[in-house]
Amino acid sequence: MNVITNSVVQVLLSLLPEKVNIPLHIPEFEGNEKLYVNQCIDSNFVSYLGEFVNHFETMLSEFTGARRVLATVNGTSALHACLKIVGVAPGDEVLLPSLTFIATANAVSYCGAVPHFVDVEEKTLGVDPFKLADHLEAIAATDNEGCIDKETGARIHAIVPVHTFGHPADIDPLLEVCRRYGVKVVEDAAESLGSYYKGRHTGTFGHVAALSFNGNKIITTGGGGAIMCNDEDLADLAKHITTTAKVPHRWEYRHDMVGFNYRLPALNAAMGCAQMERLPDFLARKRRLAEHYQEAFEGLEGLRFFKEPEFAISNYWLNALVLDKPDMGLRDEVLEATNNAGFMTRPVWTLLHRLPMFRDCPKMDLSTSESLEARIINIPSSAYLGNP
Ligand SMILES: *Cc1c(COP(=O)(O)O)cnc(C)c1O
Repeated sequence: MNVITNSVVQVLLSLLPEKVNIPLHIPEFEGNEKLYVNQCIDSNFVSYLGEFVNHFETMLSEFTGARRVLATVNGTSALHACLKIVGVAPGDEVLLPSLTFIATANAVSYCGAVPHFVDVEEKTLGVDPFKLADHLEAIAATDNEGCIDKETGARIHAIVPVHTFGHPADIDPLLEVCRRYGVKVVEDAAESLGSYYKGRHTGTFGHVAALSFNGNKIITTGGGGAIMCNDEDLADLAKHITTTAKVPHRWEYRHDMVGFNYRLPALNAAMGCAQMERLPDFLARKRRLAEHYQEAFEGLEGLRFFKEPEFAISNYWLNALVLDKPDMGLRDEVLEATNNAGFMTRPVWTLLHRLPMFRDCPKMDLSTSESLEARIINIPSSAYLGNP
């Protein structure tokens, strides 16, 4: 066994002494989850009427500082709705990292738009704003409506930066480039509830943002998501199109556009309210686990533990080791040895530009993403592992 592989296994064995079957990330339901779900059932309002959806949205809005939050059935639907409300239309291009979960690109495709893949930076694992500026300089032109891809002739309507594993992307220079080119910003904050960039919550920088509450995220509603928004008009539009675009009336069923049934059921929101009460505690224990990892992996040859950039406070949703050198063989050996030793570890997602449905999409040089794909290993990250 390679010395790097061996040292990773040894560190995990010493740090996580339970040894048997440590999952990557599991949820906890030790608060008011059952109480609130029962209250929801007793109320009869198990779909989207009733108080739980509003209450969950208010809790999210107060926690993140986003003026309006609209709960949706999952994070993918939140992203889809976000892209629709900023006006992404069939034939448009949408910039997004190749290093992200498939949902980011799927949401773009649901709009009839085309993903245009951009590279990420080593320091944040998020979109590289400087490389993006160089790329747009080379391939884009602006007109009075915004940005055009000179090579394809399509409008570059928006960008979806992702806060990868909960670590904030470098948003300020990114916003500057996007303003210059008239590109709308839809933050994929699915993984970053509880993460801050320069003191401000992720998902409050762009025009709109999406959260996810899938079972593996930092809080869960079973399935669920939310749209975050500071602009009241966009928020009203988000509410309208995620609730079948019904025109308010006491009894008439009239709809003024093709809308979606993307509203989060109250049953799920009830669970979300209980999870939000627990979020500060989840964050504290995840931070403690990350500190333990940081200390334990410090000084090991051949790899580093991924640490939040200096401008960020990360939720450490999913912890990551990064090998110094791209080596698929070594990466897979570490995955094999750690899983054999009872620790669930995983590689990063297969880069999206390699997948058959996205292979022919426009893209820039993706050398950092390609290198990171061969170097990232996610390690167990559940909050309970950071218990005092
Ligand atoms: C989880 C996730 C989503 C989608 O959320 P779902 O609730 O699973 O639909 C989108 N983007 C990223 C980066 C995610 O991790």
